[in-house]
Amino acid sequence: MSATKQITPEQAIDGHELERIGHDLGCTGCNWSALGDESFAAHLVRLIRETGHEIVRLPEDEGEDYYGQVWLDEGDIRVDCTGTHGRTAHINGVEVRPNYLRRTAAEFLAAARLVEEGLP
Ligand SMILES: [Zn+2]
Repeated sequence: MSATKQITPEQAIDGHELERIGHDLGCTGCNWSALGDESFAAHLVRLIRETGHEIVRLPEDEGEDYYGQVWLDEGDIRVDCTGTHGRTAHINGVEVRPNYLRRTAAEFLAAARLVEEGLP
């Protein structure tokens, strides 16, 4: 993704509200119209995605096992809930920080978007 202005998802949709314009529905923040193919919800999601954010559904986990571990990614990612100083995350047994996980996940999503944008 090319550099985009750093704005939050909230800023992206601020001012975009559904309003009645005559007999039709429109957007207070732009020229979106209910007469088009895009739903208002899809309009808001598009505005957020255009700022470089992604909306994803997080995978569900199975909850803590008997040993206080939560397993994700078919066992490659583990969250240890038994630590005296809080939970810790591990990838293939190596402890990693939440910031690393978040940054890596964002890089995966960016790669997925680049590939999909290049699809015919
Ligand atoms: Zn709008």
